[in-house]
Amino acid sequence: MGAVRRAVGASRPARLARQSAAAGRLSAERWFIAARYQTAPEAGATRRGRILAYHSVGTPQWGVNDVSPAHFERHLQIAVDDGWSFATPAEVIANPHQAQLALTFDDGLTSVLANALPVLRHHGIPATAFVVTGWADGHVPDSLRPLLLDWRGLSLLQSAGITLASHSVSHPDFTTLVAGEARRQLETSRERLRAVLGVETAEFAIPYGQSRNWSSALSAAASEAGYTTVYAQCVDRRPAGTVARTFISRVDRTPLFRAALAGAYDGWQEWY
Ligand SMILES: [Zn+2]
Repeated sequence: MGAVRRAVGASRPARLARQSAAAGRLSAERWFIAARYQTAPEAGATRRGRILAYHSVGTPQWGVNDVSPAHFERHLQIAVDDGWSFATPAEVIANPHQAQLALTFDDGLTSVLANALPVLRHHGIPATAFVVTGWADGHVPDSLRPLLLDWRGLSLLQSAGITLASHSVSHPDFTTLVAGEARRQLETSRERLRAVLGVETAEFAIPYGQSRNWSSALSAAASEAGYTTVYAQCVDRRPAGTVARTFISRVDRTPLFRAALAGAYDGWQEWY
């Protein structure tokens, strides 16, 4: 996600203006792609399981990555109405041609605990949260601290049955790091999850998650650090060796959410 990169150091009006412009462009682009996809011959092709990449659920400061609580509930209803069932990422990976959806939430935001968890619990839907451990340790700008879960908040997710996994220590773009720092981010985030909450994870979601944010050398480093599964945040253009996730955004109201599930955006990557 790009919201944090933009949120730090930008004045509030400037930030809101940029978020609004990004949402407008994203919306126009997604409507255009969805309209073309519906008329393309591949429409209605065999359905495949999807791992959905959400971020916040009611944190407007997270820009296009945020989905409102009402839209989130609507997404779940659409999925059920359209015959999808909910599963874990491992189940989707193991049975890619079943109509299963796995829900994941990146960055460890308080709105996931406050707004998504009650709905997930009510319907018995599993989910995974990819946690930035340095943020949970409090290493965030003061302005962002109220938006992010600390370890106590993450332990509430954990005790409610949400799977916790790694999203690095400080959410860097890994391709800008020297090898030693990349290794530290991978290893330390695993160690913090184990030390603080007793979580043994072998799953890692790449910060930003686009093809430009990862490399084969980083895949090797992740493997050496103990990860067996590395998740991207795009589908067809994901880095080699990573698992696809379908990005769900603030602009994805009913028709666009259905388009995302149908694969309309599989060839797309975030540009902001
Ligand atoms: Zn992220």
